[in-house]
Amino acid sequence: MLFETKFTKKWFSVFMTLKKDVVIIGAELAGLSLANGLEKIGVSYAIVEQKPAASASGAGILIHPSGAVALETLGVPFPGNDREWCGLTEMRFGSPRNDSIVKVPIGEVGRPVISVHRRKLHEILLTNLHTETVFFGCHVDSFASASPVRHHISLNDGTEIDTALIVVASGANTALRTDLDQPKLINQSSQMVWRWTVDASLPSQTGYELHDGQWRLGVFPLSEKQCYIFLAANRMSLNEAKQIPPSEIMARVGRFGPIGEQTANANFTGTNVLLHAIFQGPVKWEGNNEEILIGDSAHPMLPNLGMGGSLAFEDSATLVSAIRCTGLDRDAIVQRLTQRTRRVKALARQSSMYGALAHLPGNLLTDLKLHSLRLAPSFFIRSSQRRLYSEFYKAMERS
Ligand SMILES: Cc1cc2nc3c(=O)[nH]c(=O)nc-3n(C[C@H](O)[C@H](O)[C@H](O)COP(=O)(O)OP(=O)(O)OC[C@H]3O[C@@H](n4cnc5c(N)ncnc54)[C@H](O)[C@@H]3O)c2cc1C
Repeated sequence: MLFETKFTKKWFSVFMTLKKDVVIIGAELAGLSLANGLEKIGVSYAIVEQKPAASASGAGILIHPSGAVALETLGVPFPGNDREWCGLTEMRFGSPRNDSIVKVPIGEVGRPVISVHRRKLHEILLTNLHTETVFFGCHVDSFASASPVRHHISLNDGTEIDTALIVVASGANTALRTDLDQPKLINQSSQMVWRWTVDASLPSQTGYELHDGQWRLGVFPLSEKQCYIFLAANRMSLNEAKQIPPSEIMARVGRFGPIGEQTANANFTGTNVLLHAIFQGPVKWEGNNEEILIGDSAHPMLPNLGMGGSLAFEDSATLVSAIRCTGLDRDAIVQRLTQRTRRVKALARQSSMYGALAHLPGNLLTDLKLHSLRLAPSFFIRSSQRRLYSEFYKAMERS
C-alpha cells in the first residue's frame, strides 16, 4: 500500500479479510481431495500450501478400490480410459532367483486397483478447484481463536482469513505434529523407500513385487511406456540410507531378475530418485489448537499396503459427509473421524506386519514366503482383501 500507517493497515486488513468456512493446510492428496468434496457441497474453503506450485512429490501411486469410491463420493472427475490411469487386476510376487512368480488377483467390488502417475493425479484433483482458493507458497504465520467456533489466520504473504474450521492436511513430517518423536520412530518402525519413474513398458494390468530377503522391488505400469519403481529396505537409519550412493541403488535394481533387468536397462527419465524415510505414528484426529487432522498428519503409515493415499481420500469423504449431516460442528466431525480409528489402526498393523514379512532375511525364508503365498487358498486372499475395504463401504452406506 502506498501510504501505509498502523491505522490504514488495520482497516485495510479488516476490509481485505477473507471469510471461509474451512481453511485447509496442505495441498496434497488429503487437502486437495477434501477441497473437491467441499466444492461439491458448496462449502467455502481456502487451501494454504507451502510449496510454490502444485507439484507431484514422487513417481506413482496405487489407489485402492476404497480410495476410488471415496474420490467418486467427493466428486473428483475420473478420467476415462486414460493412458496414465492404469487398472491393475493382478499382482505377481517373486524373487530374483525364483522364476515361478506367484499371481494374486487384486481389486474388489468391480473396481480395480489403480496405478497412476502423481502428476496426473494432481491434475485431476485440481480440475474442479478455483485457482484463487489455493494459496501456494504460503504458510500460516499466526493463528488466533476469537471463539471456539471462529478462528483468524494470518498468512506470511499478508492474507488474513476468518474461518470456522481449520483442517490440517500437512502430512506425516509436519512440524504441526510436534508430539511425534521422529528420530525414535525412524529407528523403531520405519522404512526407507527410493522411488522413481522409468521409460519401460510392462504388461498392463499387472504389478510386480520381487523380494530378495533384504530388499524389495515394486514395479507398476503407469502408462503404455512408463512404469513406477520403488525399492524398499527395512530397519535402516536415515543417515545410513543417505550414504548409499545412487549407483549402488541402481546396481541393486539390476540384480532383481527379468523385471529388474528390464528396468535397469530402461531409460531413466528426468525423475530423480527420491528417498523417503517413512515411519508409523499414533492415530490422532485433533491438534492442540482446535484444528482437525486428516491424512498422513492424522495417521502416518508404512507404505507396504500402498494405502496411505486411499486412507487420506477416505478421511476427506468422511469429513465431508459429517459436514453435510451436522454442519461445521467441530466436535461432531471429530466424533465421526474417531469412528475410523479402529480401521486405521488395523491397517497400520497389517502394513507393518506385511513389511516385516516381506523383509524376512535370507533366501530360504523368501522361498518359503512365496511358496505359502502360492498355496494360500484364493478365498482366503479374497476375503482378506475384502476386509481392506468393507468397513469403509459400510460407513459410507450409513452416512
Ligand atoms: C515411497 C512412497 C510410496 C507410497 N505409495 C503409496 C501408494 O502406492 N498408495 C497410497 O495410497 N499411498 C502411498 N504412499 C503414501 C501417500 O503418499 C501418503 O499417504 C499421502 O501422500 C498422504 O497425503 P497427505 O495429503 O496426507 O500428506 P502429504 O502428501 O505429505 O502432503 C502434505 C502437504 O502439506 C504441505 N505442508 C506441510 N506443512 C505445511 C505448512 N506448515 N503449511 C502449508 N503447507 C504445508 C506439504 O508441502 C505437502 O504438500 C506412499 C508414500 C511413499 C513415501
